[in-house]
Amino acid sequence: MPLFGSDSKTKSSLDGLWLKCNNCGEIVYKKEVDKNLKVCPKCNYHFRMSAKEWIDILIDQNTFHELWDNIESIDPLDFKDRSRYRDKLKEAQKQAGVNDAVVTGYGTLNDMFINIGIFDFNFMGGSMGSVVGEKITRLIEKAAQEESNLLIVTSSGGARMQEGIFSLVQMAKTNAALSRLKKNKTLYLALLTDPTTGGVAASFASVADIIIAEPKALIGFAGPRVISDTIGQKLPEGFQRAEFLLEHGMIDMVIERKVIKKTITQIIRLLGNTEKKLTAS
Ligand SMILES: [Zn+2]
Repeated sequence: MPLFGSDSKTKSSLDGLWLKCNNCGEIVYKKEVDKNLKVCPKCNYHFRMSAKEWIDILIDQNTFHELWDNIESIDPLDFKDRSRYRDKLKEAQKQAGVNDAVVTGYGTLNDMFINIGIFDFNFMGGSMGSVVGEKITRLIEKAAQEESNLLIVTSSGGARMQEGIFSLVQMAKTNAALSRLKKNKTLYLALLTDPTTGGVAASFASVADIIIAEPKALIGFAGPRVISDTIGQKLPEGFQRAEFLLEHGMIDMVIERKVIKKTITQIIRLLGNTEKKLTAS
């Protein structure tokens, strides 16, 4: 019997059990991928993860405290294309289980205090609107004030077009907040996952003290096709992938998911704040 029969009932029940890898195209057992931190066991492709899955991997059990989960977009432009933006937001909230494209909060990472912001690509492609910008800014300001560690895990298609200029100003707003970190010893780490593009790549994702990326993650401002059409040239192999950016000095390291917590732990022990305790926050 073929793996995916023509019977739609059989297909949908199998869909939940098996995954087709985006990279090698192999059909892999979903449970095996989940057990492997959502990395393909055949080719090492790093599947996208939700904000909640990242918290489970990085933050010590039962230590995560979410902040500002009540901030929601007010649809400043009363935007409508095929459907109304405010309806899209409600739909995305229901589907992704988060209030907007970034989850912010604090907790401990191997017993060391950390402020963390994690993008959720399931929410409108991780796009940055006024809510994302505000939450990231508040997180940066909190870290600056406390001189405590800051980690932002990015996965974003860029600015949220439904908020127009209100999305674009978030780049300046978040970077202005980051300039306050320079005045003290706050360690800021960015973990760039697939894909980190547009306004997020062009702002806070690119100016961290240490920029870490996942293997083969797409990182860049405009998409490769747009660039290729604009300059009228063929782009080099692996252009805008994490390994290419590492070779060209744009990022500091490419780290596999299975050792990411260990790596961040080592960096904080060397350069971060190891004094601050969770209870003091
Ligand atoms: Zn694969």
